[in-house]
Amino acid sequence: MSSTHFDLVVIGGGPGGYIAAIRAAQLGKSVACVELESALGGVCLRVGCIPSKALLESSHMYEAAKHQFAGRGIKVASVELDLPAMMEHKAGVVKALTGGIDGIFKKRKITRLKGRARLDGPGRVTIEGKDNQSITAEYIILATGSSPATLPGIELDGDRVASSTEALAFTEVPKHLVVIGAGYIGLEMGTVWRRLGAEVTVLEYLDRILPGMDSQVATDALKIFKKQGLKFQLGCKVTGVTKTKSGVEVQIDGQPAVQGDRVLVSVGRKPNSQNLGLETVGVETDKRGFITVDPNFKTSAPGVYAVGDVIGGAMLAHKAEEEGVACVEYIFKGHGHVNYDVIPGVVYTDPEIATVGASEDQLKQKGVPYRKGQFPFLANARARASGQMDGYVKILAHEETDRILGVHIIGLHAGELIAEAAAAIEFGASSEDLARTCHAHPTLAEVTKEAALAVDGRALNI
Ligand SMILES: Cc1cc2nc3c(=O)[nH]c(=O)nc-3n(C[C@H](O)[C@H](O)[C@H](O)COP(=O)(O)OP(=O)(O)OC[C@H]3O[C@@H](n4cnc5c(N)ncnc54)[C@H](O)[C@@H]3O)c2cc1C
Repeated sequence: MSSTHFDLVVIGGGPGGYIAAIRAAQLGKSVACVELESALGGVCLRVGCIPSKALLESSHMYEAAKHQFAGRGIKVASVELDLPAMMEHKAGVVKALTGGIDGIFKKRKITRLKGRARLDGPGRVTIEGKDNQSITAEYIILATGSSPATLPGIELDGDRVASSTEALAFTEVPKHLVVIGAGYIGLEMGTVWRRLGAEVTVLEYLDRILPGMDSQVATDALKIFKKQGLKFQLGCKVTGVTKTKSGVEVQIDGQPAVQGDRVLVSVGRKPNSQNLGLETVGVETDKRGFITVDPNFKTSAPGVYAVGDVIGGAMLAHKAEEEGVACVEYIFKGHGHVNYDVIPGVVYTDPEIATVGASEDQLKQKGVPYRKGQFPFLANARARASGQMDGYVKILAHEETDRILGVHIIGLHAGELIAEAAAAIEFGASSEDLARTCHAHPTLAEVTKEAALAVDGRALNI
């Protein structure tokens, strides 16, 4: 048992933790990061953002080759799925990116410790695992992330009753995949397996998909997903899942059960705040187990901070990263800030859906006067050339000041287009600012400019 002292110990090597470690090292601090998994990168790199996007990209190529190439004059003799090769590509992407963090850690002289960490009294962390030891630190950041949640009556079995982790690694295409929960993870994974040939039924408790997103966009997305072949049962309360000889049966309150051969439970995520030794220093959590922090990420225990999924809010990698940087800057520089009003959210379906700032529903609810500008991809040259013209950009600007309050995009590469909108909101831009900015032609970004013009009723190409 060796003992070592650091300026900062970060528990958890996900986007919140590894970015915090890197920022502290940039500031010249001695830093250790403890991660229990063999690869750094957290859920995002190992079993979240990255593998899901690798499969979305690959399944999109498969579907395009099968159904869209011919219409573009590209003849392919036969298109076959090689699922093991697709999974191997995914694993390669994950390996390259997680290995990249190891490289940055080495370059920045960050000590990477392997094992399960727990707080063990003020300023002390005990690690069980490969690097079995106790270490001490001036400051500790808890960035232990989250795990898949389930519903009462449903036990995840790591196989037929799957979480997103297993749905990223099915060894064969399910005949019928039942997805419980129409949030972004369920829709993304449902899209992957539908493209690869599965029948996919999405069951959702609410009477809409994508809870929390702008409802107009969610309604339009639902129509498009239905056309693509995803089946939806909205407003249904799932009460249990039974494993049958050949698959699963999902029970729904007051409705016939749905049979499938696999079920994906994507109903949210729960914080990893158990067995962390929080009680040894007095770190408090809320009723759901999220670690409670003040605006500077301070927990109720002196010297202990927390960021990322484990403190709740938008469970997104870039939100965790922003918090990791802001927390470290607060600790070592005395100031740090995250603008929670400008956290973009992207659903990587086809078309993509991206949103930043206030939704129309929120503005209505708060009684904020606004003007709306909307422009369709149908009237955009680049979208037409790409053959993907579904969707629009919608800009919501304050009625009196014209300040942009929210931007919602459904359409090709919406996830990339939203960055301009986020920068505009961050800088306090008006819709007139965006409308007067010269956008290259022919680009999809011209739809954003046209939507900004439309706020003032002067869209040009329509
Ligand atoms: C299928 C899926 C797709 C997703 N897609 C996106 C996306 O496209 N975009 C996006 O922004 N977000 C996405 N997310 C969400 C994103 O992955 C998370 O918001 C993000 O990973 C949170 O980062 P974090 O650092 O807070 O926690 P995590 O990434 O969960 O990392 C926490 C780390 O701490 C480690 N740990 C936990 N306890 C201990 C301990 N006691 N000792 C040592 N180590 C410990 C864990 O092993 C883990 O590696 C997706 C999630 C899933 C499941």
